[in-house]
Amino acid sequence: EAESKRLNEATGASQEMYQRARKSLSAGVASSYQLRDPWPIYLERGQGPKVWDVDGNEMWDFHNGFGSMLQGHAHPAIGRAVRERYEQGTHFAAPTEDAVVVAENLSARWGLPRWRYTNSGSESTMDAIRIARAYTGRDTVMKIFGSYHGHHDTVMVSIGVEYDKIGDHENLASLPYGAGIPDATVQMTVAVPFNDAGAMERRIIALDKEGRKPACVIMEPAMMNLGVVLPEPGYLEEVREITRRHGVVLIFDEVKTGLCIGPGGATRRFGVMPDMVTLAKALGGGLPSGAIGGTEEVMSVVEDGSVYQVGTYNGNPLVVAAIRANLEEVLTDEAHAHLDYLNDRILAGCRRVIEDYSLPGYAVGLGGKGCVTFSPTKVIDYETFKANQSAELSDLAWLFNMNRGIFMTPGREEEWTLSVTHTDEAIDAYVDCFEEFAQAITS
Ligand code: PLP
Repeated sequence: EAESKRLNEATGASQEMYQRARKSLSAGVASSYQLRDPWPIYLERGQGPKVWDVDGNEMWDFHNGFGSMLQGHAHPAIGRAVRERYEQGTHFAAPTEDAVVVAENLSARWGLPRWRYTNSGSESTMDAIRIARAYTGRDTVMKIFGSYHGHHDTVMVSIGVEYDKIGDHENLASLPYGAGIPDATVQMTVAVPFNDAGAMERRIIALDKEGRKPACVIMEPAMMNLGVVLPEPGYLEEVREITRRHGVVLIFDEVKTGLCIGPGGATRRFGVMPDMVTLAKALGGGLPSGAIGGTEEVMSVVEDGSVYQVGTYNGNPLVVAAIRANLEEVLTDEAHAHLDYLNDRILAGCRRVIEDYSLPGYAVGLGGKGCVTFSPTKVIDYETFKANQSAELSDLAWLFNMNRGIFMTPGREEEWTLSVTHTDEAIDAYVDCFEEFAQAITS
């Protein structure tokens, strides 16, 4: 309560902005994920690893735009690319050379030969699923319980909340995440637990017998919407094997893992090659962006014109110029080495605190992403997350952070994202704050 009061007192201008915003902006925010109790924090500006809110509070940014700002705020290389492109025209709905250069760069990074652009992660997963459905001629989509792939109907299923009412993986029903999603669409999406390749194969076989074999499995290779849940050794290899055996398209949704955990994402880091990859977030250097990569076979349905993968702003010149600068000048191998170094430092710091104070939790992460999962046992899937993760500690840790100049994502399923502009100073500020939190809850 004291922490809530302290934050409320420090964010009076945000409260005022909220009162004003609610009169014109639904619920006072631009996206429902920006809501938090009792009011959202309105930001004014960002520079490198820091952000400032409308109250003038200066904070180290570990939220980083839900993982989009890997390059830090107002990066000069992105700024230059955007300014130069602006002078030459920002939108034609015709391809520019940057669109080609970026596709070549992504092909080299991911080892997938054919690319297309979108404007967000949701569009990337929506279009990838359509391509997989066209390629296989099937409708059913398989996903992982608790995974988030964006806000289009097909994937707003079995994400959480309602699924608690089932609690039985073998009698799985598909449930919508929020209202307005047609039941017919919900029934076409089927979920299986993460880190259980056997359950996936059994479900594929059962669906096949019912005459509704899945077109694709869409999954994050490392789950980044339950904190961070890494694949158990061998799991991704088995998934690859199973999907290949059953002729099911494997889509790695790398919207979050993508550029954050290595130059070629989880695909390269784990060494398992999917049929398709979806990217967004950290791709665009802070501009709305998205991309889909695929094998020649799968993407043939785009090339022969049977699938319309379209969008007025796809490959927008301003966006592809920013992506190009991001890939060529910012997210270099050295930058990724720096992110790995920083993440090792923050993970080591958090692990030390957890041990010193015997906290019920553990620190986990990869590349520029990580979190402390407040669970006495290891989380391997949604079921174990739901059963063991402490919402109370995670909410309290967020308040502690905010009150001590650490800007973090409010959701208990979220993780930190570092940026290439973060330094030891930022990392140590985070760990110090975490230690203060540990002291407070154990004293
Ligand atoms: N896929 C994953 C794994 C995500 O985490 C998200 C967003 O958080 C999306 C897709 C959707 O991306 P966007 O919010 O850009 O539509």
